[in-house]
Amino acid sequence: MRPDMNSRSLNKDSIKRYFDIQVPVTACNLRCDYCYISHHHHESAEIKPLKYSNSHIRKALSRERLGGTCLLNLCGSGETLLPLYVVDLTRELLEEGHYVMLVTNGLSTKRFKELVKQIPADLQKHLMLKISFHFMELKSKELFEKFFANIRLIEDSDISFTVELTPSDDEIPYIDEIKELCLKNLGALCHITVARDNTKPEIPILSALSRDEYISVWGQFDSPLFDFKMQIFGEPRKEECYNGLWGGYINLETGSISQCYGLRPARIFDNLSAPIDFCPVVKCKKAQCYNGHSWLTFGMIPELATPTHLEMRDRITLDGRHWVGEEMRRFLSHKLSENNEMLSSKGKWTALMRNRSNQAVYTVRRLVDYIVNGEWSVLRSKFQNFVKK
Ligand code: SF4
Repeated sequence: MRPDMNSRSLNKDSIKRYFDIQVPVTACNLRCDYCYISHHHHESAEIKPLKYSNSHIRKALSRERLGGTCLLNLCGSGETLLPLYVVDLTRELLEEGHYVMLVTNGLSTKRFKELVKQIPADLQKHLMLKISFHFMELKSKELFEKFFANIRLIEDSDISFTVELTPSDDEIPYIDEIKELCLKNLGALCHITVARDNTKPEIPILSALSRDEYISVWGQFDSPLFDFKMQIFGEPRKEECYNGLWGGYINLETGSISQCYGLRPARIFDNLSAPIDFCPVVKCKKAQCYNGHSWLTFGMIPELATPTHLEMRDRITLDGRHWVGEEMRRFLSHKLSENNEMLSSKGKWTALMRNRSNQAVYTVRRLVDYIVNGEWSVLRSKFQNFVKK
């Protein structure tokens, strides 16, 4: 399943693959209560240097190697814009011809200025900032002015943006204030995401409210992002998923790719002339597709009818402007099936068999590594987990 470079896949204005890219930063300049990572591990918060240069990463993720123009979503476990290399890497990936999204808490004025200054206007049109609105932290640290001034910097450029609030029960008494701030500074209400409790195996919604109460409280923002996330929340996907073939999860630190989160990684940054082995997951074993507002709206499960990703991101302001610029709007309206072939039954069966054998080889290799390195406690816990299952 090598990337095909036929003329259709080389259409620069249409998405060939979608990748979620992990940036190795756990440090953050905020301490939100609902944060999945940073505030639980202050002691390990860091900005790791990249082992690979930005130009090397660009070659590893070239349009030719990935099969065409892709959408690359760069996200750290802490604040994505803290590492020094992020702006230059973004420019490299845009110059390569990809579209890029950067997840940020919107507080790094320095990086925002660098993005506007160092990225040429025609490339800015292919960049979108996904800005998280951490209301409680901004309120307690008196950072509203800085936050909205930074967004204005972006609004005045050709870079697209979207703003989403992670809802928490603490914010409920402030809903009117949140709405007022958004309408005044953003011209529209922010989008709403769904906070999840990653400490529990079933990954429930992080709230003391019932599901119906949660929908009634946060649904008042009329956010298609919230509506779609709630529609798929808690639902294991039974359909066939093309993630792994039409995209995947890339780790910049290790230079590896997985078909989706937590699956077997394969190194792709070492030998740049080696083709990437794209193979679909087909059968998803996860409790739910918690980032389905991205994977699924681009059509990783082609048989599932979903809104477009543009609907998850854009807002039209009171005076008729879009948060998402025209070129980005066009790009985010496409589905992956427009540039990729569907697999036959035989192709899906072959992928399933390959997944099984690759996983078996990977598991044996890991076990051998643990034994050779004398990591008995890891081995014991793996064995206990296996017995529990
Ligand atoms: S259904 Fe979602 S979680 Fe499962 S493999 Fe596909 S993209 Fe990943």
